[in-house]
Order: sequence, then structure tokens, then C-alpha cells
Amino acid sequence: MNQGTNIDLAVEELRKGNLVALPTETVYGLAANATDEQSVTKIFAAKRRPFFDPLIVHFKDVESILPFVESIPEVAYSLFAKFSPGPLTLLLQKNDRIPGIVTSGLSSVAVRIPNHPDFQRVLHHLDFPLAAPSANVFGYISPTEPAHVVKQFGDEVAYVLDGGRCEFGLESTIVDCTLEPVRILRKGAITAEMLAEVLDYTPEEAKVSSSQPTAPGNIDVHYAPKKPLYVVDAKDLIEPLPANSAVMTFGKTPKVPGVFYADLSPSAELFEAAAAFFRTLHQLDEMPSVRQIYTTWFPEQGLGKALNDKLRRAKSSI
Ligand code: AMP
Ligand code: MG
Repeated sequence: MNQGTNIDLAVEELRKGNLVALPTETVYGLAANATDEQSVTKIFAAKRRPFFDPLIVHFKDVESILPFVESIPEVAYSLFAKFSPGPLTLLLQKNDRIPGIVTSGLSSVAVRIPNHPDFQRVLHHLDFPLAAPSANVFGYISPTEPAHVVKQFGDEVAYVLDGGRCEFGLESTIVDCTLEPVRILRKGAITAEMLAEVLDYTPEEAKVSSSQPTAPGNIDVHYAPKKPLYVVDAKDLIEPLPANSAVMTFGKTPKVPGVFYADLSPSAELFEAAAAFFRTLHQLDEMPSVRQIYTTWFPEQGLGKALNDKLRRAKSSI
């Protein structure tokens, strides 16, 4: 696998129908031509992602989405105007220029305008949009730097475009705009409170389960490290922990000897913790001296809700 900062090479591989890992402001994406069935199939194969889990399609701007959807409702224009380019994905009704494999046969397509300058440069060179889920093997921790991608994929990925470390380190928020009032399908970098400023109401979260084909992708085990990850009460962290434990902390936490501590944000900033979250899980998953990871729930507000959602999907039960 090639890695570097060559935009032209990334563009060339995408035109050939190959997979390229691209930086976004949230996590690294595994990109392919969204209008070409064969290229998109390569994404599912490399990620070992089930075909019932639809992909997000990335565009350079709002105008370039128009040829691929039935319409862009007013509410979607308003949300894009405020949060795009950025970590917001909207569900719209697709037309047949988006192949069914991208949307797992659904009539809606998830669209996003990413803000990372390198991703934007690549899109400006192409005359097709890019399907790009997170560049991790299905179910594993999301990648927030090139090394995370390189470690998981071999020659299935033609090129990794190195755009440094991701700014948010949490996936985009997904909002279903096919119905009004709109609903949140996945919590992410843009919180319900932020959306409410544009909508004049606080959007509800859709109740989803992996057995509901209309809301795929919110599969129970997701983003998980290979080692056990336990979410406990803060008071349990000062009890003796098993040998070779690591603790991922948020804010000031009492420390006991013999335990490895990874501080997500000593000053308890949710934004800082979100940026460090996946990177820290990768680090701890790789440290030979760590056998299990402990952490506590985040405050259930703003980005804390999205982080808790990741923890619920990644954790092991005690
Ligand atoms: P990612 O793996 O980060 O690219 O996120 C893709 C997720 O977006 C999927 O797992 C679904 O939860 C959601 N998604 C994408 N397209 C649709 C769709 N048409 N309908 C409902 N959810 C979708
Ligand atoms: Mg993903």
C-alpha cells in the first residue's frame, strides 16, 4: 500500500476504480467512485462490511448533490448552510444515478460535504461523488490517523492520502431529512442542541435496532477494541484493578500505582476528549503491557452523548 500527500495519485487511483483512504475532519474514509457498482463492492470487501450497512456519499458542495437526489428539501438547505462543509450527513431521497449497492437497496441516500481541504481537493478533480465509510475493518475502532489505516489494510487499498490527524475524531452526525420533523439517526460531532438552533425544535433520536432494515448500520457491537473494554463507576477505579489494566480518564481522576492511565482531557473538555477517543483506544489496544481497558461514562450532554453512544457499542460486559 502506498502512502503520501500526492493528490494527483489519489485522484488517478479513484478514476481507475480503486480504493483510496482519504482524510476527513472526523475520521479517515475508505473512498471509491459512488456511481460505480464494482468500485463500491471493493469497499464492502475490504472492510468486510455486511451489504445491509449503507454508505455515506461525499460531494464537494450542495449543487453537486442535486443530480443524484429527487430533491433537496428546504430544511436540508438550511442545515447545510449552517454546518457544511462539515461533520453533518443528511438522508435524502435518491434517484437511480446512485446504485442500490451504496444504499443497501434503500430509496434514501446519506450525503455529506466534508470539510478537510485534501478531501475537497480530490473531489474538485473528479466528476463523480465518493462513497466513503470509515477506513477500518467492520466493527473495529475508527481510524483518526494514516497509521491506523495502514495497519488494518493491505494491498486492497491503493493509496492512503496523508492529511494528518483528524480534527474531531468522532463520526458525522446523521440526520434523516426525508421526513419532517427531521430525526437524528446517529449522534456525532454536531449535537442536537446545535441542530436545534437552525430547526427551532430539538430533533428526536430515531429508535433504531440492528434488526430493523429501515435503519441499518447502528449495529450493536461497533468501534470495539480487540481487548475487553469495561465502563465502570468512577468509584470502582480506585479499587484494586486486575494486573495489566489501563484506564482511560476524563477530567481529574485519582490514580493508583501499577495502572497505566491515558488522559483524554485532563481539563474535562468534551471536544478534546472526542478528538483523542479513537486514537487512545488504538494505542491501548496495541500496548503489549495492557490486557484490559477501563473507563467511565462521559457527562450525558453535548458531545458526551455521542461519546457514550460509542462506549455502549464498544464495551464488553462485566
Ligand atoms: P459510516 O460507516 O461512518 O460511513 O456510516 C454509515 C452509516 O450511515 C450507516 O451505518 C447507517 O447507519 C447510515 N446510513 C447511510 N445511509 C443510510 C440510509 N440510506 N438510511 C439509513 N441510514 C443510512
Ligand atoms: Mg463506520
